[in-house]
Amino acid sequence: MPAIDTLCPECDARLLVAPGRPLPACAACGKPFPGLGPAPPPDAAPSTCAVCGGSGFYVQKDFNQNLGCLIFLAGAALAPWTRYLSLVAGSALDLVLYLFLPTATICYTCRSVYRGYPRNPAHGAYDPNTAWEQRPRAGPWEHKTRVPPPRRAPPGAAPA
Ligand SMILES: [Zn+2]
Ligand SMILES: [Zn+2]
Repeated sequence: MPAIDTLCPECDARLLVAPGRPLPACAACGKPFPGLGPAPPPDAAPSTCAVCGGSGFYVQKDFNQNLGCLIFLAGAALAPWTRYLSLVAGSALDLVLYLFLPTATICYTCRSVYRGYPRNPAHGAYDPNTAWEQRPRAGPWEHKTRVPPPRRAPPGAAPA
């Protein structure tokens, strides 16, 4: 079942919006969502963000980065007692999780996560330049999604 997973820009309360549903007021602080809504139908690939109206999205594996780190650290911690096989096992487990996890589409501007929606072929992996172009310049997400400006190497310089 697709859903938009987002945070209230006022109080950071989590909000899940079902397909086709309008954006409700925040259950925690009562502020209406400034978004456009409604959430796209379940078979529609995201193209305009229902939450902030942004049009920049990236896709990534819906993978809990903390879990990946934890698996790696556990493998590293056990390495001296397992002849380092735990490192290999941890990496393999990470890889298997990665391969079988679904992708999610994420709005560059408000960082809402679109889970279970079809992937829009126009959307690629996270790109720092696009993130900078699509950063919120005003409105409720301005102070939420701080995007570091991309490092532009001077012409002719080797990339850092
Ligand atoms: Zn709220
Ligand atoms: Zn958005």
